[in-house]
Amino acid sequence: MTDANRETPYYIYDTALFRHTIDVALKEASKIPGSQIRFAIKSNNNSTLIRIAAEAGLGADCVSGAEVARAIECGVPADKIVFAGVGKTDKEITLAVKNGIECFNIESVAELEVVNEIALNLGMTANVAFRINPNVDAHTHANITTGLNENKFGISMDDMVDVVKRAIALPAINYKGLHFHIGSQVLEFSCFKALSERINQLQDQLEAAGITETEIINVGGGLGIDYQDPDQNPVPDFAGYFAAYSDSLKLRPHQTVRFELGRSLCGQCGCLISKCVYVKEGKTKKFAILDSGMTDLIRPALYDAHHKIVNLTGDAEGRAKAVYDVVGPICESSDVFDKDIELSEVKRGDLIAIKSAGAYGRVMASEYNLRTLPPEIIK
Ligand SMILES: *Cc1c(COP(=O)(O)O)cnc(C)c1O
Repeated sequence: MTDANRETPYYIYDTALFRHTIDVALKEASKIPGSQIRFAIKSNNNSTLIRIAAEAGLGADCVSGAEVARAIECGVPADKIVFAGVGKTDKEITLAVKNGIECFNIESVAELEVVNEIALNLGMTANVAFRINPNVDAHTHANITTGLNENKFGISMDDMVDVVKRAIALPAINYKGLHFHIGSQVLEFSCFKALSERINQLQDQLEAAGITETEIINVGGGLGIDYQDPDQNPVPDFAGYFAAYSDSLKLRPHQTVRFELGRSLCGQCGCLISKCVYVKEGKTKKFAILDSGMTDLIRPALYDAHHKIVNLTGDAEGRAKAVYDVVGPICESSDVFDKDIELSEVKRGDLIAIKSAGAYGRVMASEYNLRTLPPEIIK
């Protein structure tokens, strides 16, 4: 899996696991007739992975014009590309309209009017779904909760009838459906059931107001992965996830459902590999100082996220265990991967793997401290 002579840090992606994970997801999703999966490119925008997803028949969920362009470049058909985001610029909207994407996930009336105007000027039409803020708590970290009234995302349920009527009246807009996304790393399936119930209510409300044109129900993504024990659970519980929806979501006969999965598809497929540069004996603690830091993988610093860390070299040599704080070289106190964890004894030069780093890893890397962005190796 690793090459001791390769310069560290780097990301390595297990494409066999990625393919297998997609297969399992597709098999379970197929129990919901007409359902389709979009790969959330913001979780991992590596071209090889996007191509694999496209070849498997997945569409793309994009949150910027550059992601739309990347998806097209990597072979995702435009009619399987959805475009979300609260701040789409005119330039990004123009690119997406020209390419004839499947759907804009619209987040405000102001945005709806701009999409209409741009499409009209191009002599084209744009398909839209509305992102609705369902006020459902995803019971996940505050920074990755998106479906509460206090969050910036989506349109309130109370405004929906008026907004959909406005869309239907606009000349260059095709109203297609409803879009939701309550958050990420969601492990309680009851949250997806709660979302389904809100969707059912909303559908009743729209139909009572005479709106029967809703074709697409897009429930977003958010299925979490096992960061504690990735070796035991490399593939998330897709059966349970899709069952949560098929048990509770009341689709109308002409409707199909979309899932936008990011982390659950690629999270376990990536590892960040680094080397220990120094082992430092502090006053009360032992620090394993790595050559990778929060600039390469920011999740622990940003979300208090836990990633399983292993000493590849120490394990291979069967060394005795010791307790370490595993930290990076960046000049920030938050540059800590984990505290008080047991690793086989760490020595300078050991290869250290940080697991479950395939999603929201490399895509969030920065050049802070004038560091080089970590390369991505495909296995
Ligand atoms: C980030 C995002 C997703 C994917 O979320 P995961 O938790 O990675 O599955 C899906 N839809 C939207 C709108 C998003 O912003």
